[in-house]
Amino acid sequence: MISLVFATGNPHKLQEIQDLSPPWINLSKPADWNFFGELPETGSTLEENAVQKATELYRVLQKDCFAEDTGLEVYALDMQPGVDTAHFAGPSRDASENMNLLLNRLEGHSDRRARFRTVIALILGGAIHTFEGIVEGRIAMMPSGRGGFGYDPVFIPEAYDKTFADLPDEVKASISHRSRAFHAMVRWLELKGRNQ
Ligand code: IMP
Repeated sequence: MISLVFATGNPHKLQEIQDLSPPWINLSKPADWNFFGELPETGSTLEENAVQKATELYRVLQKDCFAEDTGLEVYALDMQPGVDTAHFAGPSRDASENMNLLLNRLEGHSDRRARFRTVIALILGGAIHTFEGIVEGRIAMMPSGRGGFGYDPVFIPEAYDKTFADLPDEVKASISHRSRAFHAMVRWLELKGRNQ
């Protein structure tokens, strides 16, 4: 059994990770430890941001924890918005505005390939370890679906013809960037024998 705090205030991300967690991970969130502050995200890469968030939470709580940062990387836009995915259309971080800007930028492009990339930074006993998860796919011509969050209505994963927001939650859970990064962390913890 291992206790880990997941450094997020995003209820969607928390739910996804809770659904994926094996029984030997005792998962909690910052609010469970009376931490309601914002974690800094001022890095220039997903890796830097994930490490920054986990490091700050560890500094405050002194508990083993992990943070993740996710970006949408669009091939025809030189892998943008990437680290700027959350505030692509501006500081309001509005999902509809972000998706509209993305669809506008892709007008006239035949190459609509894109990928979601997640980096998880785990701090265990003060040491930092990072894990990555990627799902390849393409950007739809228009938003579709009510499930998921963020850019899910415009992202069609490879080998499917529906967006993440149209597909059942279980499908996203089985192939998503976040689940792949999390499984990489879980496998690493198993190898270390932390699942005992
Ligand atoms: P952050 O990792 O919380 O900084 O999120 C970066 C941006 O990616 C935000 O606009 C999120 O809404 C979006 N995002 C993160 N994960 C997902 C996902 O699984 N599906 C769709 N959008 C996501």
